[in-house]
Amino acid sequence: MENSSSNNRFRSAMFNHDDEDQDKEYVGFATLPNQVHRKSVKKGFDFTLMVAGESGLGKSTLVNSLFLTDLYKDRKLLNAEERITQTVEITKHTVDIEEKGVKLKLTIVDTPGFGDAVNNTECWKSVADYIDQQFEQYFRDESGLNRKNIQDNRVHCCLYFISPFGHGLRPLDVEFMKALHEKVNIVPVLAKADTLTPSEVKKKKIKIREEIEQYGIKIYQFPDCDSDEDEEFKQQDLELKESIPFAVIGSNTVVEAKGKRVRGRLYPWGIVEVENSAHCDFVKLRNMLVRTHMQDLKDVTRETHYENYRAQCIQSMTRMVVKERNRNKLTRESGTDFPIPVVPGVTESETEKLIREKDEELRRMQEMLQRIQDHLITQKDGY
Ligand code: GDP
Repeated sequence: MENSSSNNRFRSAMFNHDDEDQDKEYVGFATLPNQVHRKSVKKGFDFTLMVAGESGLGKSTLVNSLFLTDLYKDRKLLNAEERITQTVEITKHTVDIEEKGVKLKLTIVDTPGFGDAVNNTECWKSVADYIDQQFEQYFRDESGLNRKNIQDNRVHCCLYFISPFGHGLRPLDVEFMKALHEKVNIVPVLAKADTLTPSEVKKKKIKIREEIEQYGIKIYQFPDCDSDEDEEFKQQDLELKESIPFAVIGSNTVVEAKGKRVRGRLYPWGIVEVENSAHCDFVKLRNMLVRTHMQDLKDVTRETHYENYRAQCIQSMTRMVVKERNRNKLTRESGTDFPIPVVPGVTESETEKLIREKDEELRRMQEMLQRIQDHLITQKDGY
């Protein structure tokens, strides 16, 4: 029964289109984009955005303004004393947003405590570790048995907030970006742009761009626009590239400006409107993140950053496996078991335990490597 009804569906899809009957050349693959569209809308989209930078630079306000949600309801702010010894913690907030039937699962990863302590040496480390852990988890899931329902928690973009009060980049900014640029797409933003005059914004942007170049920092590169694009699109693309770092203003309040209710900041001398492109680059940033480059940010994460991680992982696993094989060969040839090394301060049974754990880890790696190889072979055969 089921077969015949699905056959009928197939037949009607194949033969009952008047247009197709008229046009004998029509095979039907022109509907492929629609099929892909329907499938991805049904599945929904996900995106993980990280915000980093000193506390108080307006990260949470901007995130709330960008996605019109209150993601930070339960946030606890620390006092100065608590912040002296504060270590960087990583927090995650997830919201499901829906717009015209399209669902987006948005995850915001925040880094409270970043740059807050008296000694900030290597405070980027926990952020780098977090990004690596997400890659590792993905790598494990991908090499595991149930590859169908993998949850992708990889960080697709990191908005890095630069203080408007300094003279360009601070050493911590340089250190952070250099430590992370091979792991994540960094998009620098100039925070609280309403505290600067337009000419100061312009000068600061030029200085920051020069410093990014000078220190060899590889921020996210917008893809080149195709030569056959229309002039308007090319102009927009150029403006976007020249806006780096995006000068942003955030606000959680709605104010009245020229008879209209807008998201803005009310000062004794006037109103700054978050969504007014004469006041800041908020709209450009939001369009870039949501409308034009979200998929590219995900593609670069997958094709460049994750691939780098994966290649390094496979390389070090291969090295360990080869080393282990050589060790086993040597043991077999000499006909004796390897002597258990004596580690100072560690009793013999603890040493044995350590070796057993190492062996166990190696065995797991060997298995994972085998699965990756099998997966690569099936992929190759499939094409
Ligand atoms: P976070 O610690 O980086 O998340 O910063 P918050 O978003 O909590 O903002 C810290 C303070 O700066 C709050 O008092 C905000 O109202 C204020 N603030 C946020 N964004 C802006 C902005 O664009 N301009 C100005 N002048 N103040 C802002």
